[in-house]
Amino acid sequence: MFSEEELIPISGLQHVMFCERQFALIHVEQLWEENRYTAEGDALHERVDKERHESRRLFKQEYGMSIRSLELGLIGKCDLVELYLEPSGRVAEINPVEFKRGKNKESDCDRVQLCAQALCLEEAFQITIPQGDFYYLAAHRRLVVEFDTTLRKVTKDAIDRAREILDSGLTPNAFYDPDKCDRCSLVDICMPKAVGEAGMRVERYIQASLRSVRKECEA
Ligand code: SF4
Repeated sequence: MFSEEELIPISGLQHVMFCERQFALIHVEQLWEENRYTAEGDALHERVDKERHESRRLFKQEYGMSIRSLELGLIGKCDLVELYLEPSGRVAEINPVEFKRGKNKESDCDRVQLCAQALCLEEAFQITIPQGDFYYLAAHRRLVVEFDTTLRKVTKDAIDRAREILDSGLTPNAFYDPDKCDRCSLVDICMPKAVGEAGMRVERYIQASLRSVRKECEA
């Protein structure tokens, strides 16, 4: 069981899957830069948090529900949790929902984030949650995400990797990847082109030194 101080934000799983260096810069070195993508995401979540709670006798909608798992060491918030109740008031089914701005182009990062929310809810309510939804605000359309064995494993692997990086306190080297770096909010701090090339030079120097030491030992 993890303590409150050891909990990792669920949003960090997206960072670790997108780029391990980005995760370390944010969660180890505590650096954060806002860009268009993060600002739009924050605006969306603020809007969701202000939504009203909807409640019928056997169905409840809870917006902005705080969640955590002491077993997995996670903390976060759900955009929307739909609760289906039995007449006794016991929770029979839960459906976590994540709101999305754009079209259907969710990646593993998004699915892992939703699955991590489900794992926290499973621990809190002691029930199995087989699926959740992405809800596309513009199109008013839902996409079902199954929390199958594969997605659960990918999610747990991401949690383990995030914790390994936090425990090591080390920030991985930068490698420039235009698909990621050009839309990363930390690109100006990270400087992947400069740091990546310098890192490669150091790596080549170390490898050359090791080869020469090995040759001397073999001679
Ligand atoms: S700029 Fe690139 S390497 Fe640096 S943190 Fe962002 S995605 Fe990772």
